[in-house]
Amino acid sequence: MSLFSAVEMAPRDPILGLNEQFAADPRPNKVNLGVGVYYDDEGKLPLLQCVQLAERALMEKPAARGYLPIDGIAAYDNAVKALVFGAASEPVQSGRVATVQAIGGTGGLKIGADFLKKLQPGAQLLISDPSWENHRALFTQAGFEVGTYAYYDAAQRGLNFAGMLASLEAAAPGTVVLLHACCHNPTGYDLTPAQWAQVVAVVKARGLTPFLDMAYQGFGHGIVEDGAVIQQFVAAGLDLLVSTSFSKSFSLYGERVGALSVLCASKDEAARVLSQLKIVIRTNYSNPPTHGGAIVAVVLNDPKLRELWEHELGEMRVRIKHMRQQLVAGLKAAGVAQDMGFITEQIGMFSYSGLSKEQMLRLRGEFGVYGTDTGRMCVAALNSHNIGHVCRSIAAVV
Ligand code: PMP
Repeated sequence: MSLFSAVEMAPRDPILGLNEQFAADPRPNKVNLGVGVYYDDEGKLPLLQCVQLAERALMEKPAARGYLPIDGIAAYDNAVKALVFGAASEPVQSGRVATVQAIGGTGGLKIGADFLKKLQPGAQLLISDPSWENHRALFTQAGFEVGTYAYYDAAQRGLNFAGMLASLEAAAPGTVVLLHACCHNPTGYDLTPAQWAQVVAVVKARGLTPFLDMAYQGFGHGIVEDGAVIQQFVAAGLDLLVSTSFSKSFSLYGERVGALSVLCASKDEAARVLSQLKIVIRTNYSNPPTHGGAIVAVVLNDPKLRELWEHELGEMRVRIKHMRQQLVAGLKAAGVAQDMGFITEQIGMFSYSGLSKEQMLRLRGEFGVYGTDTGRMCVAALNSHNIGHVCRSIAAVV
């Protein structure tokens, strides 16, 4: 009997497990629509020009690699604050936002989770039904009892907004509500600004704690448009947490660049919150890595590079929209009779296709087209070379 003899084999991560299966598939025309990664029209992971220029600039002045401060690079944290709340905004100007660099958006969520758990040990936490696979696991690991609020209406193919409001209205005061700021993962359905206003009102009236996950800022309608929901919460006078990820918007997946921002009531409160966030970081991994944060700080703080980033991000956004249109047209041309127009109503990287698990398994097994069992497909992995095969394959299974 060893110490670990009773350890059970954990289930494979559903999405990363799909990747392994994809890698082992010998078919040349296989297509991976499983993982949430943006590929260009050649099927390649882009290395943005703005990132290359920032790296060159950093290399011209090689820096020794000391430890970063616990909360990360100050120029990075300030750039995140400006991006999330607006540089000239009252919260930033008055110093009532506490921002820390984090290891990806996942890291931002986990720092926020650990901080909130300590602050309100008994609070429940709600995620959307459905939500990003890792939300439930991450908040459960942090000790929360995780419930859901209604979100997706499978029959109507869209948002179950009345259900969402009803769920929030039924939540106990102090419940943490995890909201997708834009480009909802996995469904691709976002709230309209008017619907957000209603959600903000309920969150305020019920005394709920809003935690916004912003993993796709700039992939929906634009950087400012996608961040507009934050302004609504600020205008309502609410405290909130925002996690940021630059994995997608900078195509820096492996550098693990993200942040957590906490909007507080005052500068003094923000200083106290920051001190607690630092304890969470210090006791988990001490301080963040340098390279990714340094790149993003250079780009966001240099007007020319920032303009280039916005341009390159815009190109990614437009290409995804184009692929949505091509998918709708291609499915029709391939003989799919049902109206697939909902695909262009969805936004961001993903489409909830409405396909059943059986259909998704057939797509994978017979055609080498990989999406998740739930029917989620990454539209950002479609390109002019693989879309024909994808459309014909879907047409064969529906
Ligand atoms: N939140 C959502 C909704 C996501 O889709 C993702 C990435 N798939 C993350 C957070 C995590 O982002 P990161 O890879 O930067 O940790």
